[in-house]
Amino acid sequence: MNKFELLGLNDALLQAIKDMGFESPSEVQEKAIPILLQEDTDMVALAQTGTGKTAAFGFPLIQKIDVNSRKTQGLILSPTRELCLQITNELKNYSKYFKGLNTVAIYGGASITDQAAQIKKGAQIIVATPGRMQDMVNRRLVDISAIQYCILDEADEMLNMGFYEDITEILSHTPKEKSTWLFSATMPKEVSTIAKKFMRTPVEITVGTKNMGTSNVSHEYYVVNARDRYAALKRLSDANPDIFSVVFCRTKRDTQKVAEQLIEDGYNAAALHGDLSQNQRDLVMKSFRARQIQMLVATDVAARGIDVDDITHVINYQLPDEIETYTHRSGRTGRAGKSGVSMVIVSKSEARKIKGIERIIGQAFERKDIPDGREICEVQLFHLANEISKTEINHEIDKYLPSIAELFEGLTKEELLKKFFSVEFTRFFNYYNNAQDLNAKGSTEVYEDEGDSTRFFINVGAKDDFDWMSLKDFLKATLDLGRDDVNRVEVKDSFSFFNVDSSKAEEVIKIFQDFKHNGRHINVEITKKSAGKERSGGRKGGGGFKGRDKGERSFDKPSRSGDKGRRRSSDAPTGGRRRSSDAGSGGRQGKKSGGRSSSIESSIKRRRSKK
Ligand code: ADP
Ligand code: MG
Repeated sequence: MNKFELLGLNDALLQAIKDMGFESPSEVQEKAIPILLQEDTDMVALAQTGTGKTAAFGFPLIQKIDVNSRKTQGLILSPTRELCLQITNELKNYSKYFKGLNTVAIYGGASITDQAAQIKKGAQIIVATPGRMQDMVNRRLVDISAIQYCILDEADEMLNMGFYEDITEILSHTPKEKSTWLFSATMPKEVSTIAKKFMRTPVEITVGTKNMGTSNVSHEYYVVNARDRYAALKRLSDANPDIFSVVFCRTKRDTQKVAEQLIEDGYNAAALHGDLSQNQRDLVMKSFRARQIQMLVATDVAARGIDVDDITHVINYQLPDEIETYTHRSGRTGRAGKSGVSMVIVSKSEARKIKGIERIIGQAFERKDIPDGREICEVQLFHLANEISKTEINHEIDKYLPSIAELFEGLTKEELLKKFFSVEFTRFFNYYNNAQDLNAKGSTEVYEDEGDSTRFFINVGAKDDFDWMSLKDFLKATLDLGRDDVNRVEVKDSFSFFNVDSSKAEEVIKIFQDFKHNGRHINVEITKKSAGKERSGGRKGGGGFKGRDKGERSFDKPSRSGDKGRRRSSDAPTGGRRRSSDAGSGGRQGKKSGGRSSSIESSIKRRRSKK
């Protein structure tokens, strides 16, 4: 027996659940669904973003609706248009085997007449944003006088956005005898006020700890000089070639500025803020969902309720004014059981705010260094190698092979590989060759300097089922080191980095000299000088990565490696860029184009595996 069956759901729902590929209920679903099915009760359910709250109220709601009546029986209020559409979509999926069940979305920025017409046809469930709902109630375009179920979804965000009055107003038009279900990620004062005011002895369900940040999100911060913020952002992106991120800025102006700069520098970026029209915002979100945008630069208000799975990184380009807002930002990643990273770029004077955030999220931050040029080149090189090795051969090439082969006659495999990789690598190398150290010098007030440690490269990564924790454990065991002796473990797809105290560096190399793990040869190398030395002694020496790059900001980019959208790149070699501004970002189109930006990667068919 499947675990969903045990919750008391009927066959029509179980079939839909099976179709969607859900294997077992999440914790909030397991706790909420049986109660909501069996009793007519009010409920307050607290669970992190991405824990499956929609189904936790959606399944019981659908099962309880009387499809033979065309009356509106259930009302779901949700903070944003995006969420509203997302919930409606989910509910339609859940209820596909319920003949005659209609779910209608009501939200601002679209024709009110169309929405009213849809309601008139009969909508047992309405999913609405508070503003538009109130408008329609006032104009008597909806009748919610007989609803039995009222759901306040993402209640904390609705209140954050100032919908308290609208909600109160809407609820005053609903019958006293009904069940109210409140779902929220956090429980600030305002939410308990609402609960007290509108609910009668609600059943309380809490998943995880109240107010905690999502626990599969790791939190990192980077200390830079304020003028290096933008350059740092680019490095963080370049060091994570598969990044799919939301970048938070404090103001609309900064949001627009950073997005424009990124687009100009060749990244797949776009802006999302309140000065864009609804239509423009829709286009941006559509491109983002389709992964045509890798970096969505957004204000807090515009990003509320962004409900996109698989976001790999949240980047706090600037910290929010209210540190409580940080939880909402970081909750955009690490959804649906996946892991995510929330990065904060701070100046020295802001660094002490980190402690305050740690208290709120109940989780520690890790201080990290902005990667240097060499590290980024390495990451990009191995990323490319990995992509190439995964690429399926396109046999359309076969017929051209003889002439191509002629061109490379007499080259050894090694020479050929070197040439091949130089196409991409040289671009990054040239760009980062003179890149300066962006990490702010001197100690900050938050944490002690790391001291004299050595950074290592190791040729195992996520592909070998390591995450930073398991790799750290593996290293600690293998090297016979203590809890704090291995640090700054950073796991990439097919390789990783870690730091060990420099006094033990030789030993590390020795231990890994002839080492096999699961039958595979493990290769460990020193990548760069100690972080401690860099910080006190100024710029690094050696390796050709020395000196200063004045032009990092305006310098022609190393173009973004592509994304899914690049598949269509045959008709648009610099496609990612153009699409970004088409998508209504309002950003200028990149001026620099042509030869240098065409990359090997853009011609590789990229398949980003979703799971
Ligand atoms: P929340 O509202 O708590 O932020 P959602 O309801 O939006 O989270 O769910 C997040 C994602 O997880 C959605 O893509 C949803 O389809 C998926 N999901 C929900 N429940 C399950 C489940 N039991 N098994 C697998 N995936 C699920
Ligand atoms: Mg939700």
